[in-house]
Amino acid sequence: MVDGLNKKIAACQIVDFWTEWEKAVKLPLNQFKKEIIGAKIIQAERRAKNILLHLSNGKILLVHLKMTGHLLAKEAGKVKDNKYFQEKVNGYIRHSWRLKKDDQVIDLDFSDLRKFGKIELFDKSDLVTHPTLSKLGVEPLSKDFTLEKLRESLKNKKKSALYSALMDQNKIAGIGNIYASEIPFEAGVNPARRVGTIKPSEWEKIHQHTIKVLKKAVKHRGTSDSDYRDVDGAPGGFQKLLKVYGREGESCKRKNCQGKIKRQKIGQRSAFFCEECQ
Ligand SMILES: [Zn+2]
Repeated sequence: MVDGLNKKIAACQIVDFWTEWEKAVKLPLNQFKKEIIGAKIIQAERRAKNILLHLSNGKILLVHLKMTGHLLAKEAGKVKDNKYFQEKVNGYIRHSWRLKKDDQVIDLDFSDLRKFGKIELFDKSDLVTHPTLSKLGVEPLSKDFTLEKLRESLKNKKKSALYSALMDQNKIAGIGNIYASEIPFEAGVNPARRVGTIKPSEWEKIHQHTIKVLKKAVKHRGTSDSDYRDVDGAPGGFQKLLKVYGREGESCKRKNCQGKIKRQKIGQRSAFFCEECQ
């Protein structure tokens, strides 16, 4: 998502901001507007479900997407050409930044059905001590995510189910419930297994498939099971490639396996797995 976002908004200048849900902005609206208007967006960065916009004035504009939030970049004059923008899921615009680059005008809209999203602004130097961002675990697609780092990150979660441990954002950032089912399936490990019982050979597979599954998801622009949309409002294509998530009662996709996909509640969320091969 962040690549698509950067293509549209990097080097744009913020010229205005509008909101219908002021509560989501974590500082007085006038002050917020004063601080961001005139600044340029250097680049966008994603950390778990947070989008960080690095601004030319040394500030970071943080958008917490939460459950249902997503950003849409709409170029003036081209909105009508895009059928996705008319879809209901893209119609819950709570906040909007007007951006300019040369003579191009872009509205960066924050669509958020449930209004759980939050907007913050802080100095770049405060990033390392930020209450949520500083606690986020390792990014699984960064070079820091080694097999050792994975095991080290989850070493205090021995009694947790693998499924829940993978979703702990303070250990590994950015794995949601869909991927927490898909990764154990690819690794051939039951998602309900206690972390402390996982063997070294299984850790290797979990590590390898965490990277593979997430890379594939990025390539297919995410999964649109819920409200995820890219900056053009388009659903991701990864849901067609899901092997277990949302497939309860269907046949296992692993070659030569006759099993059926089961659903099981683990810590309030539904994990999906094959009862035969996992
Ligand atoms: Zn199977």
